[in-house]
Amino acid sequence: MTASIADNLRVVRDRIAEAAIAAGRAPDSVTLVAVSKTKPVAAVLEALAAGQTVFGENRVQEADSKFPALRADHRFDLHIIGGLQTNKARDAVRLGDVIETLDRPKLADAIAAAMAKEGRQPRLLIEVNTGDEAQKSGVSRADADGFINDCKSRFGGRLIGLMCVPPHDQDPRPHFNWLANRAAKHGLATLSMGMSADFEIAIACGATWVRVGSAIFGSR
Ligand SMILES: *Cc1c(COP(=O)(O)O)cnc(C)c1O
Repeated sequence: MTASIADNLRVVRDRIAEAAIAAGRAPDSVTLVAVSKTKPVAAVLEALAAGQTVFGENRVQEADSKFPALRADHRFDLHIIGGLQTNKARDAVRLGDVIETLDRPKLADAIAAAMAKEGRQPRLLIEVNTGDEAQKSGVSRADADGFINDCKSRFGGRLIGLMCVPPHDQDPRPHFNWLANRAAKHGLATLSMGMSADFEIAIACGATWVRVGSAIFGSR
């Protein structure tokens, strides 16, 4: 028998609380973002029924097909967590309560314009490509400080933190620590880091949000 989404959520929440306590933090100091990409609406409904209220999707189109209809009967926050093309900025602003992947000036322009048009201001995280991987979204380490400063003056309090996805084949700790130091330096309180394979390590390094997909919804 396979575990239900509710069972998986319970296990993940317990592991998060234990990792937070082990790090000397409050058990409820970490927000679980349930990443439902590729999974059907039925899976999202199961998670909602189990009390999950924060979701992540990495494709705007998929988010659009799954989430708006749920807003009539459910309260939740939707996070856009995938790299964004500028032509998707307006949809991201319309759909998302949080955009975690602001990573370049042109996208900042597009998001600012979309906020004005939609009359909606999602909270924003800057994604940093901490491994400086060519194929990955995220501002480079070298450009991070300048971009963070620009976005702070442009978006003010809507910019709340930083996000990263470390390279698959490396120890994530140096990446998580680098991001935590950078957030502290800029006075940004939110740190989105850690996925199914490494969220406990991320919490030990200071993550306040963890983005967990397969450990909740099963493999993709
Ligand atoms: C898919 C995805 C996750 C979740 O990954 P799992 O390994 O399934 O937990 C987290 N963050 C981002 C940006 C993703 O695309």
